[in-house]
Amino acid sequence: MASSVWWIRRDLRLSDQPALVSAAAAGEVLPLFVIDPSLWRPSGDVRRAYLLRSLREFDSVLAGALHVRIGDPTIVVPNVASLCGASEVHVAADFGPYGRKRDGAVDAELRIAGRSLVRTGSPYAVAPGRVRKDDGTPYRVFTPFYRAWLAHGWRSPAPPVRPNQWARLDGSQPLPPEPDLGPLELPPVGEVAAQTRWSEFRASDLADYADLRDRPDLSATSGLSAALKWGEIHPRTLLADLDDSRGHEVFRRELAWREFYADVLHQAPETARRNLRTELDSIEYDQGASADQRFEAWRFGRTGYPFVDAGMRQLLAEGWMHNRVRMVAASFLVKDLHLPWTRGARWFMQMLRDADVASNQHGWQWVAGTGTDAAPYFRVFNPVAQGKRFDAHGDYVRRYVPELRDVDGVHIHEPWLGASGLPSEYTQRIVDHEVERQDALDRYASARRR
Ligand code: FAD
Repeated sequence: MASSVWWIRRDLRLSDQPALVSAAAAGEVLPLFVIDPSLWRPSGDVRRAYLLRSLREFDSVLAGALHVRIGDPTIVVPNVASLCGASEVHVAADFGPYGRKRDGAVDAELRIAGRSLVRTGSPYAVAPGRVRKDDGTPYRVFTPFYRAWLAHGWRSPAPPVRPNQWARLDGSQPLPPEPDLGPLELPPVGEVAAQTRWSEFRASDLADYADLRDRPDLSATSGLSAALKWGEIHPRTLLADLDDSRGHEVFRRELAWREFYADVLHQAPETARRNLRTELDSIEYDQGASADQRFEAWRFGRTGYPFVDAGMRQLLAEGWMHNRVRMVAASFLVKDLHLPWTRGARWFMQMLRDADVASNQHGWQWVAGTGTDAAPYFRVFNPVAQGKRFDAHGDYVRRYVPELRDVDGVHIHEPWLGASGLPSEYTQRIVDHEVERQDALDRYASARRR
């Protein structure tokens, strides 16, 4: 028998865990994870493998007490609560479009049986929907959101709680087998790995974060996005360690982007699939066999633009891509290849280990100019200039594009200008950026006139 169920979703940690504090206050707790086919089926292998490893790790921290079920949570959760005699099911609130609906349905089912769903905390420092303009409407531009978010503030990390004993229940199902990722390598997963990474990052790169975070040739960012996505570490824990120095300030701002996008998606759930700026719905995109071929070249890092190709191949090799290169590669798909952002966003969701609907769909929309970007829609990243600026010596390109390993630094970002003996994609690019940039501007201008 248990007093309560702690239904874990994106909270694979024990520290800074308000929902567990709340559950443990009532007595013995049954930790439950439900593999929901509606979320599992569309997930890519990378995300599945990451989650399975993290669940296994978490189960060992819980001394084997994690109760796993596979099925529809609206049936499974009330059923488990009933079997173990718990009167409450505790969760961290989910603000995503699917999660909110699911939790409403689970809540309704529990109530029918006289039980309740208790929401405490969320995966964010400030819950989506809390930060508002003076007139009560949500922000659609980052900088004013950021100021209001700072002014709103957040709670300190929750006090530690480690129940001596977890409730146990028969009928836990085995986890599905882990997909074979081939040569793709994942970093260590779990709460301890996330805390270790955070300590290392704080001690080494955080002080220089403001200056070096845009350099994909270095390892100068935290690499914590997947841990944040799965709640192996909470943003509040990170924020509590930050001071007012420049590197810390810029890092706090990046964490706020994650909060901003969750807030925007919460206010406009349809933007998971559609433009936030509906006035740009009529932009013309390419379709058909030649568009499909260009998409394949982009997906597999064969566009002939070394910086874009290196990013797309980093994604294939690691299930992760540096933020600067995500922006350039996304811009290239939308503005140089004239394909819709939704197509690229789907591939990123499939391949990224940190794949997160809010950050991904709105990261894409920011680049496409159909989302929250305060800058004009005519920002088009130049893949050569970006490479020269942020990967000046070409080390990043050489790491992921072996065909270019022997190209000298002068030509590494435009090998078509001088290097010899290269495969054809690097002597004839897939498109000419200057031509396509103008085409993109024309398409955006005519959509705005319509
Ligand atoms: P750090 O630089 O160490 O930043 C710390 C944390 O701040 C990150 O872990 C992340 O949680 C948050 N953060 C930083 N930049 C952003 C940002 N621009 N938007 C939102 N949060 C941010 N991030 C995801 O977590 N999941 C995604 O699916 C995702 N898709 C993206 C798609 C595109 C097209 C773009 C341009 C960006 C996307 N991002 C996404 C944001 C960003 O690229 C990653 O969060 C970042 O690269 C993760 O590396 P890091 O943990 O080392 O980041």
